[in-house]
Amino acid sequence: MTAVTFIYGPMKSGKTARLIGDYYALSDNHTVAVVRPALDTRSPDGRVKSRNGSELNCYVFRNNAELMAHIDKSQCDVLLIDEAQFLASQTVLDLVRLSLDTGCQIRFYGLMTDYKGNTFSAAETITRFAQKLEPLFADCECGEPAQFTKFTGDTQGRTIIVGHDQSYFPVCTRCFLEPA
Ligand SMILES: [Zn+2]
Repeated sequence: MTAVTFIYGPMKSGKTARLIGDYYALSDNHTVAVVRPALDTRSPDGRVKSRNGSELNCYVFRNNAELMAHIDKSQCDVLLIDEAQFLASQTVLDLVRLSLDTGCQIRFYGLMTDYKGNTFSAAETITRFAQKLEPLFADCECGEPAQFTKFTGDTQGRTIIVGHDQSYFPVCTRCFLEPA
């Protein structure tokens, strides 16, 4: 059985729609918990929302202790984590350990790289421990599959920018490396 899976792709590659689909597919035979870290401000009401309009209830945690308490309480045997790039690397390690100790399946959904093309440290840690990696692609304006995310707004020197969805767009490798 695959204990740790990383489903990753740029903005608008359908990660959240995939999470929601996986939730319904797995719920027939499993107790599934859906969580995400509190950093992302797009859905502060504790719901996971995809761009195609589907949504799901989701537990938003602010730290490791809250996450572990929720996992314990939910008695889940499958854990789906949205916006996994925002996790602390220690949280990723704790979840890998949890999967070994309890047999709970962990599925991370998130970005591999930031808008500069650098790998998020959480994504790097997840990649090292995942038994299964599933890349998702969006559509670049040029028609090629997009695996990077570009940011066109004012970054003000920050690496993580949340709540500016309209300023992000997915690009292919060529368009990322050789901007028009
Ligand atoms: Zn392109």
